[in-house]
Amino acid sequence: MPVTLPQLSRREFLKRAALAGAALAFAPSSHASWFGKARDRHTFFFLSDMHIAADAAFKHKSGVNVAENLAACVRQIAAWPVKPAAVIVNGDLALKDGLPGDYATFGKRLAPVRALAAVHLNLGNHDERENFWNAFPQDAAKLKSVPQKQAAVFGSAHANWFLLDSLDATNSTPGVLGAEQLDWLARELSARPDKPAIIVGHHNLQTPGSVDGLKRETAALAELFARQPQVKAFIHGHTHDWSITQHVSGVQLINLPPTGYVFKDGRPNGWVRCTLGKIGAEFELRCLDVKHPEHAQVQTLKWRV
Ligand SMILES: [Zn+2]
Repeated sequence: MPVTLPQLSRREFLKRAALAGAALAFAPSSHASWFGKARDRHTFFFLSDMHIAADAAFKHKSGVNVAENLAACVRQIAAWPVKPAAVIVNGDLALKDGLPGDYATFGKRLAPVRALAAVHLNLGNHDERENFWNAFPQDAAKLKSVPQKQAAVFGSAHANWFLLDSLDATNSTPGVLGAEQLDWLARELSARPDKPAIIVGHHNLQTPGSVDGLKRETAALAELFARQPQVKAFIHGHTHDWSITQHVSGVQLINLPPTGYVFKDGRPNGWVRCTLGKIGAEFELRCLDVKHPEHAQVQTLKWRV
């Protein structure tokens, strides 16, 4: 059950690029600079809601070429002055039904990022578990934390990261974590009480008027936030919008923008930089349209105590 794609060595990266017919939109001379860059171990990059079709020329009805949008985000990430600690891709990799060809095209467009850092992949409601797992067999990490789900936890200097799998049924909007995964999360959080915990899953908490998200489990998560004060942030996608708000418990709610298409005209698409500090984090929106009024806005969050 792959959830993490390890960073590729320069040799492995170039081998794969050659096998892919050098289809990557980068000159070979640019590769050298990626491998030579310093790493900032406190910085993490996020991508969400890519919705990639097997046909890289596919355009969403809004006119957006989703594969080109992902490629443009990847170019921006590759041009960033430092390498991140990790990149987290937060679900809806595939267009609609999680078809094998969708993941093949996604993997090709994501490839340059794999030269920079490990990539953690979460599933969304437009992904299909078996096809997803089959798409990255050579990178498969056998995680058996929760049966038939791909929850995982990894540590960093200033926070522990908890990756959740909220895919219930492919191409059905709401998400479900399930009792086993919620128990796993509570156990893993209890085992790590001293460091800030950041939870990342595809679906949003259910609020009045929001897109159907974790309808059945929002109350359970609110109880968990109350019981586990080390939980400082909940990061999700799914709504195809960008916002940072605060839950009544003080937990920061970070709604990642899509790289693909937006639901509402004028809202931003792109990716997000997060740099952790001891008592909080900076979040920066990086828009595909660099003229968007919210592009490059940095929000400095202080964790609840
Ligand atoms: Zn989506």
